[in-house]
Amino acid sequence: MRGISSGVYYRRIIAAGSGGSVIDCVFCRIIARQTAADIEYEDAHVMAFKDIYPKAPVHVLIVPKRHIASIAELSDDDAEVIGRCFLVARRLGETKGFADKGYRVSVNTGPEAGQVVYHVHFHFTAGRQRGHGA
Ligand code: 5GP
Ligand code: ZN
Repeated sequence: MRGISSGVYYRRIIAAGSGGSVIDCVFCRIIARQTAADIEYEDAHVMAFKDIYPKAPVHVLIVPKRHIASIAELSDDDAEVIGRCFLVARRLGETKGFADKGYRVSVNTGPEAGQVVYHVHFHFTAGRQRGHGA
């Protein structure tokens, strides 16, 4: 949670404007590079970074850079960036050598599904057979 009490940090996040970063969102902080993460991929719209508590040998989170709380909050305007997230999943599958072996892309939505971080994220998991809930 480095930087949370910094005035510079707050000004930066607020300057991002509506539809941008959300102050108390852990993934917005990673995207703004206020919290460290092991970034695997980044472009103008999407970031992918390793899950801090991996549930599989390969466990990467793919997130839209724009803050969207959950699948339940999606609007028509989000269709493109969500599609881009899946294209990043395809890319990770290829670069990590799982295109043929296979991998899983999953998303938890809401409390009963175990969503903990309310910034849409796709779990990319690979390297082990199913049986975990990520
Ligand atoms: P959810 O249960 O919301 O679908 O998944 C949230 C995921 O985010 C969990 O797998 C958790 O390990 C991961 N996570 C939570 N906080 C952090 C963090 O600060 N950094 C990274 N890299 N992953 C996080
Ligand atoms: Zn966010």
